[in-house]
Amino acid sequence: MTKPKRWSKGVISGVPADTTDDEVKGETSAVMARRITRMVDCEIIPRSVIIAFEDELPRVVFVHLRRYRVELYVPKPIRCNKCQAFGHKTASCEAATAVCPRCSSKKHEYASCPVDKKHAKCAKCGDNYNAAYRGCIKYKTIDRALNISVKQGISYRDAVTQVKKTYTEEKTRSTSTSSDITEQMERVQGAKKATVANGTKTMKSMSVRKNADRTNDKARKRLRRKQHRRQCQRQTSQPLVIRHLHPRQAIRYEKIKCCV
Ligand SMILES: [Zn+2]
Ligand SMILES: [Zn+2]
Ligand SMILES: [Zn+2]
Repeated sequence: MTKPKRWSKGVISGVPADTTDDEVKGETSAVMARRITRMVDCEIIPRSVIIAFEDELPRVVFVHLRRYRVELYVPKPIRCNKCQAFGHKTASCEAATAVCPRCSSKKHEYASCPVDKKHAKCAKCGDNYNAAYRGCIKYKTIDRALNISVKQGISYRDAVTQVKKTYTEEKTRSTSTSSDITEQMERVQGAKKATVANGTKTMKSMSVRKNADRTNDKARKRLRRKQHRRQCQRQTSQPLVIRHLHPRQAIRYEKIKCCV
């Protein structure tokens, strides 16, 4: 059995609200067209239109003679409001009991939750926030994986594995860096103590102490820079492209390129 080919999906913005999905589909010769809507104060607000093609995504499409630029469509993680799991909507939820998004209890619903906001517990990771919070590590993992999956054209499963690997690497890197810092700080403090112990209250010893402080400051700065360089991925993976800049500005950008 051959695998069904994945559609390439794009999104176009600014299509007038009175243009129907069928009209967009017909005009663009897409295999699917679907308008994204948003609920604001019980009112449905029409937004961009998702269009799908069997082959490659066109760069531009025309709807009623108007030109629209096609952006790559990256879906957002879907969370079920009933069981709080990712990957399906409430309408298709098969869970027997609902889970409270605030405290992750199965005994009551959100509307009757007796738990204070401050004591919220995420149903997915157990952290101190509502399950709808987009800073949840599970949400962030899925979001990143969806992005990678669409942009690199790899399967969602492979993308998740890749993201998890990156997280583990980042974690080990940050722990090693923090231990580096403590080591360095201990050394700095030791040096300070030694200077204080040896120094008498003469001008000479004062200047020695000052010099030691200066050296320690320099060491700390160097360490901070080193740590920043290690954490900042931009410098290595995405060199900054300087375009249309005055040479003087370009130099300034060059200097701060790893933090912009
Ligand atoms: Zn569900
Ligand atoms: Zn609750
Ligand atoms: Zn969470």
